[in-house]
Amino acid sequence: MPASPNLAPILSQTLHQLIDAVLIVDAQGRVQLFNPAAEKFWGLPAAQLIGSPVDAVLSHPWLQQLQHGSSHTLPITHSDGQLRWGSLSVCHSDSDDGPLLTVLIKDISEQQSQYASLQQLSMVVDQTDKAILITDAQWRVTYVNNGFSKMLGYTPEQILGLTPISVMAPYSDPKAVDRLHERLHQGSVFQQDRLCYCADGQRIWCDFTINPVLDQHGQLINVVTVLTDITHTKMHEVLQNHMLTAMVSEEPLESLMEIACKEVERIAPEVTASILRVSSDGLLHPLAGPSLPASYCQALEGVPIGPCVGSCGTAAYRGEPVLVSDIASDPLWAEFKALALPIGLRSCWSTPIKDSQGRVLGTFAFYYREPRGPSAFHQRLIDVIVHLCALALEREESRSKIRQLAFYDSLTELPNRSLLHAKADQALAEAERNKTPLSVLFVDLDRFKQVNDSLGHPAGDELLRLVAKRLSEHRRHCDIVGRLSGDEFVLVLPQCDSQQVSEVVEQLKATLSQPCQLNGTTLCPSASIGINLYPLDGHDMGTLVHRADMAMYQAKSAGRGHFSFFSHELNLLAQERLALENALREALEQDQLQLYYQPQVRMPDGLLYGVEALARWHHPQFGEISPARFIPLAEECGLINQLGLWAVREACRQLAQWRRQGLQIPAVSVNLSPTNFHNLDLPGMVASTLREHQLQASDLTLEITENVLMDTNPSTLKTLDEVHAQGVRLSLDDFGTGYSSLSYLRRLPIQELKLDRSFVSDLDQDATNRALSEAVIRLGESLQLTVVAEGIETNSQYQILKQQGYHVAQGYLFSRALAAKDLEAWLHTATLSP
Ligand code: C2E
Ligand code: CA
Ligand code: CA
Repeated sequence: MPASPNLAPILSQTLHQLIDAVLIVDAQGRVQLFNPAAEKFWGLPAAQLIGSPVDAVLSHPWLQQLQHGSSHTLPITHSDGQLRWGSLSVCHSDSDDGPLLTVLIKDISEQQSQYASLQQLSMVVDQTDKAILITDAQWRVTYVNNGFSKMLGYTPEQILGLTPISVMAPYSDPKAVDRLHERLHQGSVFQQDRLCYCADGQRIWCDFTINPVLDQHGQLINVVTVLTDITHTKMHEVLQNHMLTAMVSEEPLESLMEIACKEVERIAPEVTASILRVSSDGLLHPLAGPSLPASYCQALEGVPIGPCVGSCGTAAYRGEPVLVSDIASDPLWAEFKALALPIGLRSCWSTPIKDSQGRVLGTFAFYYREPRGPSAFHQRLIDVIVHLCALALEREESRSKIRQLAFYDSLTELPNRSLLHAKADQALAEAERNKTPLSVLFVDLDRFKQVNDSLGHPAGDELLRLVAKRLSEHRRHCDIVGRLSGDEFVLVLPQCDSQQVSEVVEQLKATLSQPCQLNGTTLCPSASIGINLYPLDGHDMGTLVHRADMAMYQAKSAGRGHFSFFSHELNLLAQERLALENALREALEQDQLQLYYQPQVRMPDGLLYGVEALARWHHPQFGEISPARFIPLAEECGLINQLGLWAVREACRQLAQWRRQGLQIPAVSVNLSPTNFHNLDLPGMVASTLREHQLQASDLTLEITENVLMDTNPSTLKTLDEVHAQGVRLSLDDFGTGYSSLSYLRRLPIQELKLDRSFVSDLDQDATNRALSEAVIRLGESLQLTVVAEGIETNSQYQILKQQGYHVAQGYLFSRALAAKDLEAWLHTATLSP
């Protein structure tokens, strides 16, 4: 070993001046050396430590474990309480006094804090939700952070070296891109919102903040772009803008929903959108589906929601979104796939639209043309749109509630005064335009106050509801029924004249007066009705209702259950008609009608051919009422059938009685209306009557008018044929006044023609009538019919007809129609041939 200089003093000096802290620890763990750098590092004087255990500053056992030459970073607390960082290494050596441990500590507090802040910085860059992208002066990507990959899905490899626009916004306008570059070269920061493409083809809305980095000469060296995903906000903004604008401009619900669908399809063209409303009774109603065929939407109208009703019906039922990614195979679509598949819909994702209480108001469906589910973008889109749709649907609901409250009476649900007037004004305008009549009825319940007082208000309310229901029954679509106040109702009946309104009033009275149970009491409600007619009684609703009200008071004064027209004449007519109708009904029931008989005389021998039975009505109050009046009335009020049957029975009874008395009356003719032949029981009834009185079928003749040919009822001809087949004779009355064509005449199974008396009346003065009566007798002969001339009053008429070859004569010349008794007398005294 070469001799070496004594290094100890040098070493000691070096250790003293070293900028790193040095400690020497002996085998017992006591500090042997603590250099000035160590004193500074810990802030402790060496004198305090030398000879003391090292544990005051560092753990001895830990130090002993450390390997020779290894280094460690550790925090050290300075005596002033501040934390410092040291890079520590140890060195094991031997000395005369045993093994020594030399500890060297470098103060790395400065680096450490720089490192920490650097780490924080990169953490910020990488952890942020924002995407950061750095390009060089040639616009090529040189750096992207984690956030960029996360947001747009591109890995750094996919984009590094490329221009960002070519990747993320391939369809940008090149001119706009040039303008952007120009501005960046000038050092201006640029901010823009735009849709950009992700790696998977989805689009998101980004806010781009583009910062140019220039060198000291003003040359562009880098561009740092920060992108923020603003899809949600932007969707909100775009959709809200459109929907709210439409809502503010009072667009109807359907067009709002159509806007929603169209906006969704514009933002996501791969989606076909559809909105259904769910009514409170759980039925689906299509609201919008602008890209779906109308027939598809219509097919869903009224479909009840349920656990297995496609995507929408099921989503509404469950109250949560339902995804059917393959319509063809999913059991939820089993009943509906035949609708969807042929029009190319392969999958459907439906989300319920709920109100603030969570009640399902509708569904929003995304249909796709391939089996798939929604993308994240679609999820975000639906979140936004469903809220807006809920807003629109809720608004519509509250509006209809408001409408209901404002325009409908809450008790009866009928239109209230304002709606009634509005609707009536419309109806009136239409009546004016089309020159059609219109009736206004003012209905006031009778003794309503008594019901309220004696049975209580709830019973009164119930009665009002019942009356409202009864007034609305059998109403046509165009009729308006409203409640004015209390127990007052108004009916507005378009295209209804005085005649028709009388029938409506009769029907109303009958419906209203049906007995009902109120609070355990049986009651027959009745009302007084005032009637007013447009244009006769007024031209505006105010006047019409007011006068109908006046007419109602007039009706009230007549007692319960009456009606009254405002117009005096109409009122008289209608009241009279009503009275007559009731009287006729009573007369028929109580057998107060009579048959009179007018003889028919054979020509030329003057023997009795038969008698025509003519109805007579003598009313104790109204006096003698002509059949010309009561026959049409019986027709109108449905009594004609009863009257016809009565006449047949009475005539047969009388004929049989005469026969029993030994009077030679060959036959009786009874007049029947065409309506009598609607009755399929007529032939059977005629046969049994004849049998009952032991008469031959040929003893009876039924007179029918030509109108029977105008009758479209299919029973008429059948009944006529059946009666004829029994052998009862049929006579065509009033011949020549109707429009029967000769061909029809052949089709009717008649045996007799009666020349109308209007031809007979001026036979002696009028050559035309003579020619006509001549033609009729020739026609009758050629068809082998007996021809009767009626209304013969003078001998000259009789002579002409006799000359023309008429077979039978009837008229005042021989006799008026006589009561049975008088006819008997007449038969005894008459010389039949004048
Ligand atoms: P009609 O069947 O043509 O009856 C003949 C009418 O002429 C009768 O009037 C009769 O009284 C009247 N008359 C008879 N001879 C003369 C005459 O020489 N001169 C004039 N000016 N008139 C004469 P009436 O009884 O008032 O009956 C009117 C119409 O009422 C009848 O016309 C008939 O269509 C109908 N009618 C009468 N009774 C019945 C009935 O029981 N059932 C049906 N369905 N209709 C009846
Ligand atoms: Ca007749
Ligand atoms: Ca006649």
